[in-house]
Amino acid sequence: MSMDHGEYDFIEIEERWQKVWADKRAFEVREDPAKPKFYLLEMYPYPSGRIHMGHVRNYSIGDVIGRFKTMRGFNVLHPIGWDALGMPAENAAIKHGIHPQTWTLDNIAHMKAQLQRMGIAYDWSREVNTCLPEYYKWNQWIFLKLFERGMAYRKKSWVNWCPQCRTVLANEQAAGGECWRCASPVEQKKMDHWFLKITDYAEELLSGHAHLRKWPEHVLLMQKNWIGKSRGAYVDFAVPELGRSIRVFTTRIDTIYGATFLVLSPEHPLNRDLIAGDTEAHLQEWVAGAIAESRLRRDLGDVEKEGVDTGRTAINPFTGERIPIWIANYVLMEYGTGAIMAVPAHDERDFEFAKKYGLDIREVIEPEHPVAGTGQLFVDHGLVKNSGPWSGLRSEEAMERMAAFANDKGFGEASTTFRIRDWGISRQRYWGTPIPVIYCDKCGIQGVPYEDLPVRIPHDAEFTGEAGSPLEKVAAFVDATCPKCGGKARRETDTMDTFVDSSWYFFRYASPKEERLPFARAAADYWMPVDLYIGGVEHAILHLIYARFFTRVLRDLGLTALDEPFPHYLAQGMVTKDGSAMSKSRGNVVDPDEMIAAYGADALRLFILFAAPPEKEFAWNEDGIDGAYRFIGRVRQTFEEIRGMSRTSGESEAVLDPDSAARLRKKLHQTIKKVGEDIEKRFHLNTAISSIMEFTNTLRREKDVLKGSAEGRALLREAAGGLVLLLSPFTPHVCEEMWKTLGGEGLVFHAPWPGFDPLLAREEKATIVVEINGKMRDKFEADLGVAEDEMKAQALGLPRIRALVGDRPVRKVVCIRNKIVNIVL
Ligand SMILES: [Zn+2]
Ligand SMILES: [Zn+2]
Repeated sequence: MSMDHGEYDFIEIEERWQKVWADKRAFEVREDPAKPKFYLLEMYPYPSGRIHMGHVRNYSIGDVIGRFKTMRGFNVLHPIGWDALGMPAENAAIKHGIHPQTWTLDNIAHMKAQLQRMGIAYDWSREVNTCLPEYYKWNQWIFLKLFERGMAYRKKSWVNWCPQCRTVLANEQAAGGECWRCASPVEQKKMDHWFLKITDYAEELLSGHAHLRKWPEHVLLMQKNWIGKSRGAYVDFAVPELGRSIRVFTTRIDTIYGATFLVLSPEHPLNRDLIAGDTEAHLQEWVAGAIAESRLRRDLGDVEKEGVDTGRTAINPFTGERIPIWIANYVLMEYGTGAIMAVPAHDERDFEFAKKYGLDIREVIEPEHPVAGTGQLFVDHGLVKNSGPWSGLRSEEAMERMAAFANDKGFGEASTTFRIRDWGISRQRYWGTPIPVIYCDKCGIQGVPYEDLPVRIPHDAEFTGEAGSPLEKVAAFVDATCPKCGGKARRETDTMDTFVDSSWYFFRYASPKEERLPFARAAADYWMPVDLYIGGVEHAILHLIYARFFTRVLRDLGLTALDEPFPHYLAQGMVTKDGSAMSKSRGNVVDPDEMIAAYGADALRLFILFAAPPEKEFAWNEDGIDGAYRFIGRVRQTFEEIRGMSRTSGESEAVLDPDSAARLRKKLHQTIKKVGEDIEKRFHLNTAISSIMEFTNTLRREKDVLKGSAEGRALLREAAGGLVLLLSPFTPHVCEEMWKTLGGEGLVFHAPWPGFDPLLAREEKATIVVEINGKMRDKFEADLGVAEDEMKAQALGLPRIRALVGDRPVRKVVCIRNKIVNIVL
């Protein structure tokens, strides 16, 4: 068959092989203790309606690694599912009158077809869909287990409220004071809310980092800061007039002699008692105003520091001195105890506040090695001074001894606090997992009995977009029977944060049809942990911290022995076009479907993998995909030429050219080695592809020399077969086609990855010494066996040699192959 340069019928080829894979169930796997397992996972998509380029990149990276591992003999689990609950479905219902379920399921069907057109080797028999009751039932089951243990609890509290999304947000979803979904400024609301006790695991989430050596450093750092562990001490400051004391948390008890006032957060429960009296109205008004400000902006230090003097004093237990009590916006109820001792001489925020309000500043720490010109504010550790019996100690020692002293005297203790808060999961939305709880006037909060699970999302609801959850208006849903007394009761109408769904879905793939438990222990024990997890870094402190928390929860429920679900996390870079991230609002979106229609899935995959290493940003350009398409055409053409070679009748058989054969064989083995290592060790899929391209060029060069002999033709066929195997994880359709043409056994997907001869694969280099008039002046590396002309040219081109030679005429250049170039001037 003759073919135009670069042209091939990719539509026919790709569709045909996709059908073969599906018919043969080629990508389905089951537990096999005889084989090493490899669980490969990309973060599952939200079914927004269409696959975008970021998905294509994410899944293509995974697919190459999965196919490669399969060829290397691993039992590879590579599943996919849908993060199918959440707001956009409900918004579509409000806007277009389409039911959230219909919208979601339609989108899933569409996106599934798109993924299949990509040729990704997913085990579709394990597809997980979180909007189906058989999935979210287990969210409810896990919730009830936590509820029984006091780890899911309801509390009236200040929560982040997105006015645009009309729902509560977790702290992780409101970081920076903006809604993670719509970027609206987040407001504060006080309401009843369900929390999960992630704080119980704060210490472990932090210490677990020791096992995450294959995570990007910056992701661990983000988590570490979010968890925010600090060692310090609690100290009680008595307020005799109230018969109470105020407990503060400090990380610098060594500075307590410099504490010149206390500061309480506006939300502090003692404020009410403290501000009773003459000035009550004025103070209360101020406090109410401070509370209304965004806590997150206050947290970031994004607000002007303001406060009021309560007129009260408290006693510093170390000095016996009375110091004023203030209320100020820069102290947050969430951290420590919601009260601090202010040491303006040694804390920047306290310093700023004291300056503004004219409060005392008292130095009690001096630098160990004083430097001239240090200002009034010294925040580092140093030597304690002006502190009675503690003076002269170093900060570290003073902290330990002073905390112990406070403990002995009964007014304090050493302690550790964390910045991370319990995870608020209540959402006032329809399209989420109903929280399985019933409120009875007589019996209080009752968990729904396990046998009544799932609490289904009722189909009939009205989507008006008005405030409040649509579930509140579905009487058949709200009206419930108390499981304890059988009386009339009210069902919880809040649904769960959808991040609950994604906190354990990776376990579900191990046994997606399991009916008695969230997942079957034996299957999960075989497959888990996820050996390689790939996804965007935007989930660093959301999904990735929740999933680590849930894995520990499941462990403590006896469902797994695992601590860490993802020992290896690859954060893939962004897809950009014209210098910015692809997004609808910027109008720079490239539709994968259009690209597949124009160039084929193989070309799209190849280009997206070739253009940048996975963790780096990838800039889209259409020339690139055209180049990938042409390359595939060239491979096919070369392959067809080699396959069609035979002894030309009438001509006598030539003798094998040994140099040409050696070059080709060597390049083949080097390429096998390099591609394998690039994929396996570094995920440098881009350099793997470029070495395959180089190899293709070698093959094309040598084929005209080698085709004359039977031995040469055999070698060419061997090399062409190697090329097909090496390229198959990247461009699987066209490689299945060539594999079949070649008479390969079964699918190329199941063919073993080629081995290499280490001797042949060795990159042989020689160090060549450059002499001028017999004296060594420089050296360089060259391929072993480099030609003399090449040696001379390289030697004379070295900058150092050029400088030394200057404009003196070169009389002679003497070469000793692989060793020396001597320049005679
Ligand atoms: Zn929002
Ligand atoms: Zn009851």
